[in-house]
Amino acid sequence: MQEQHYNHVLVAVDLTRDSGLVLQRAINIARRNQDARVSIIHTLEPLGFAYGGDIPMDLTSIQDQLDSHARERLAEVADPYGIPREDQHVVVGMPDAEIHRFAGEHGVDLIVVGSHGRTGFALLLGSTSTGVLHGAKCDVLAVRVGADGEATE
Ligand code: AMP
Repeated sequence: MQEQHYNHVLVAVDLTRDSGLVLQRAINIARRNQDARVSIIHTLEPLGFAYGGDIPMDLTSIQDQLDSHARERLAEVADPYGIPREDQHVVVGMPDAEIHRFAGEHGVDLIVVGSHGRTGFALLLGSTSTGVLHGAKCDVLAVRVGADGEATE
């Protein structure tokens, strides 16, 4: 059987300590695929979704601050690996839906997520990684990371 060739790898990171490990794995795969493009994405939950209606104030400026803080953190993770800023994405929404949407719109053929080694067979994958796997229209690689976000390598 012919080896699958990937052109565009999307790495989803939660910005915890294991993000670097997940990104490194994606970069290694990209290198083995004639330097496939690597994009990195972090999603922020919309404040209105969590507190909608409960707080009688405009949450826009707080959302903007969370957004710019996330961009800074994402750059701290991605810059050392040489991911250009235009391939670093912070989007507001539910992680699985936004990751699928981005993948569909940008010709992504491999999504890389982390998966925590929690005990119990129902907890093999974290909830986000399970959501990303379900409904994905391309391959998904779950990189195993420690239960508390620590790399297992
Ligand atoms: P979890 O569901 O917390 O176990 O997360 C497992 C994996 O899902 C992480 O390693 C990331 O790859 C991905 N993930 C979790 N939260 C986010 C997020 N806010 N944005 C992008 N990816 C995420």
